[in-house]
This record gives sequence, structure tokens and C-alpha cells, in this order.
Amino acid sequence: MDRRNFCKLAVLSSAGVGSMLLNANLTLAKGIPSGVFTGRGTDKCYAGPPKGVILTSLTDLFKIGPGPSSSHTIAPLRIADNFRQTMEEMPKDRIGNAQSIEVRLFGSLSATGRGHHTDRAIMAGLLGQKAETCDTKLMDQLQDATKKYPTTINGKTFMISHDMIVWDKIEHSYPYANTMIMRLVGKDGSIPFEREYYSPGGGFFLWKGQPEADRGKPLYPYHSMTQFKVMAKENKKSLHEIILENEKAIMKFGDREIYAHLDMVIKSMLDGVRQGLQEEGLLPAPFVFHRKAKRIYERSRKAKGGDGFMGRLSSYALAVSEGNAAGRLAVTAPTLGSAGTMPAIVSVMKEMKLSRNAMRKGLLAAGLIGFLCKNNASVAGAEVGCQGEIGVASAMAAAMITYATGASLEATEVAATIALEHHLGMSCDPVGGFVLIPCIERNAFGALKAYNAYLLATNEITSQHWEDLDRVIMAMLETGKALPTSFKEMGTGGLGVTMVDC
Ligand code: SF4
Repeated sequence: MDRRNFCKLAVLSSAGVGSMLLNANLTLAKGIPSGVFTGRGTDKCYAGPPKGVILTSLTDLFKIGPGPSSSHTIAPLRIADNFRQTMEEMPKDRIGNAQSIEVRLFGSLSATGRGHHTDRAIMAGLLGQKAETCDTKLMDQLQDATKKYPTTINGKTFMISHDMIVWDKIEHSYPYANTMIMRLVGKDGSIPFEREYYSPGGGFFLWKGQPEADRGKPLYPYHSMTQFKVMAKENKKSLHEIILENEKAIMKFGDREIYAHLDMVIKSMLDGVRQGLQEEGLLPAPFVFHRKAKRIYERSRKAKGGDGFMGRLSSYALAVSEGNAAGRLAVTAPTLGSAGTMPAIVSVMKEMKLSRNAMRKGLLAAGLIGFLCKNNASVAGAEVGCQGEIGVASAMAAAMITYATGASLEATEVAATIALEHHLGMSCDPVGGFVLIPCIERNAFGALKAYNAYLLATNEITSQHWEDLDRVIMAMLETGKALPTSFKEMGTGGLGVTMVDC
């Protein structure tokens, strides 16, 4: 068949398909009615968008802390800091009976905590370090398992060392995959105080019996993208206005505090890229692992067209991820394992010369996507695999650039949906429990997919897009539940097995 006839045939056949789709669209809204697939597939179906109210804040979502992992490094540090503060407030007689502190790690924290610096993070928190201002040189020193550090808490001196940490059961029945018990132990073996903590991803933490947080009610309550769009339409509000108003109401912040936080996040991301592009050499690991961001960046500057852009975008993501793997400070977006994806897109937005205001709006859109994914599924590799980390980061980045460049709420949703959909099923299989393989390169791919999702979303007719974000988030949750535990930050499946010699 010659080219002309082929083109004719293509036009005719696509017209046929188009009319079929048109007919289908006359009867189908989003979502395929049950019965269409009778006899195949599944009898399960979508039960509708989740209900409730999201109370997560931008300061919860975008946190700064030491790498390499938000769930295994930042959260344990924050937990230890919380335990220390609780001890400071205890009656003297209670703390007087205690002789030492014991920390028991369960699940993925136990399986891969050493490679994620969980032990050092706990020690740093007990020594009074805060995540966002943590002395990363001290974190490096804490690696030495022979050293003991005295610290005085509520008038009593405790020795902080690796000996206080127990790498407990990997299989357990606690309600969260990442569980950590901190306790005071008396001379006679009694336990004057203990608290059962959980690290559900993204540097968040909570504990058993925790009283409800003292937060305000959001002005525009929602728990799904479907509800968010209806509310935006009814109130004639834009995406960024709703997120801003809610942040003010939930956290009782003013505009100035919120903008200061957003600007700090953007600056930290850009700083991470800049610093990472200057560094060379090996990353800390028990095997030889070279940094490559700088080299790829320099080569990409000599490359032409798409190669140059893809290389540059990848190098930005690699730069931050390598810094994170080295234990430097980074922003949870939504986690540290995925800390390189959003900064890469922020760097591209800067190259596009978007205004500060546009960058802030983009970050607010990313915040919305992060809130929905965290509250309706998970952002923890230990719970849903890497789709919850790099997948969500890619969706947030896609939404950020789409909204920042002036696209509609609908196009922003489509961009996030596309980016997340094409990460579904991605397992978490870090080699040796280190946030190196596959994590670092995975950030570059997350950024590339985010940019592609932005291009697709801003060039298609959004009302014709089939998948919607709520359904894809539910699919992520279902897929995550179905993934074997060995593919959820255990280092015992996939690359975590095949890359290691017997
Ligand atoms: S594989 Fe993905 S989810 Fe797992 S540690 Fe690496 S970045 Fe995080």
C-alpha cells in the first residue's frame, strides 16, 4: 500500500473509531457502566470518591530534613525529638526511675533502616537535633557504632548510642508498616513510660492514642478531586485560592507565613539542584557508587534539541537525589526518596522564566495532588510501593508545571492523572536498603514523565480524557495492597534480590 492510500485508510478508520467513541460518549459519562464487561474482568467496581475532610497542611507535606528517606530518616528523627520533648515535660519522679532509653524498630524500618540512616536519625533526635536545621555533619559522625554520647533530658543524663536500638520483627501486626516503639527502661527492667509511634510516609508521624490535632476547619472542605472541582465551580474560586484559604483556616496562618513557606520550599529545591550539580565522586554506600548528575548536565549542554533538554531535566533530578542519598537536607515532595522529581521541574519552570507568583501557584497545585494521594491512598513505599513515592512526586510535578503555566484546573487534574497512572504497579525494591538503586535514576524518570504528562494534558481536549484522578488514586491503593510485602521497601524483592550476588 502506498503512503497516500495508507493515509486515506487511516483517516477513514479513525473516523469510524471516532464515531464509535462519540456514540459511546453519548451514553457514558466518566466511568464505564457495569455490564459492559460482563463475562470478563472483575465484579469489583468503583464505589465513588472518598468522603471526609482533608486537614493536611502544606507545612506537613513539604518538610525539610536530612536524607535519605522521609519515612526512615526524617520521621524517626522527629519521633525521637517528640519523645525527648515528652520526657522534658514529665514529672521528675517518673524520669528519675529511668536508666536508659530503648528503641524497637519493626517492619520496613527494621528491614532497611540501616541503609536509610534510621539509627543515626533517632540518635540525632534524642541529642536535640531538629529535622529542618539538622547538622548533617553530626549525622555522619553518628554512623560510628562504637561511640556513646551523653545527653541531659529533664535533669537526668542518658547515654545515646547504637546499643539502644533493637532491630525487631519485620513481619508484625501493628496497624502501620513502619512502627517504632520508644521506651524508658528502669534499673530493675521496669518501663516507666513508652510510646508506640508510626511513620506513614513523607516524614509524617503519629502515635497510638494521640489526641486529635488542634486544627481549624477548612473553609472549603473536600476529600476528592471530584468534590474539589464542584466546590471550585460553586464558589467561583480557583485552585490556588482554595488551597490558600484552607491553609489559613486549618493552620491559622496568614498570607505572609504561607508565602514564606512556599518560597523557602522553592529555594531549597533550587539550592539542592545547584549544589548537586557541583559535586562529583562517590556516594556513601558499602559498594562503589558514583555520582553522575554533574557529568550528565555538562554533556546535555553540548547536546542539541530534545537530547539536551532531557539530559538537563534528568541531571536536575539526579543532582537532588544524589545529595539526598549523601544525607544532605532536602524537601519531602512528597518523600525524600522522591525528593529529586519536583526540583527538576521547578528548575525547568525557572528556565521558562515563570514569575514568582506563578511558581507559588504551581506549588499550591502540587500540594492539592499530594494531599489527595496521601489521604486517599499513601505516599509510603512501605505501604504501596514506589508508585506512592515517585508516582505521586511525578503527579505533583506534572500538576505544578501545568497550573503554573496558566492551564485550567481540569488540565491540571489530567496532567496529574496521566503521570500517576503510568507509575501504577511500581514496586519499591531498594538494593541493600539504600536509597540509591533504583531510587536516584527513578527520580529522573519521574521528572521526564511529569513533563510529558504536562505536554499531553495541555494539548489534548481535557473533557475527552477518560481516567480521572480519584479513580487512579484508588487504583494505586488497590495495587499497593496487592503488592507482596517484599516489594514494599524491604529490599527483599526485585532489584533488591537480583542485584545481590549469592
Ligand atoms: S524504590 Fe522508590 S519508594 Fe523505594 S526507597 Fe527508592 S524511591 Fe523510595
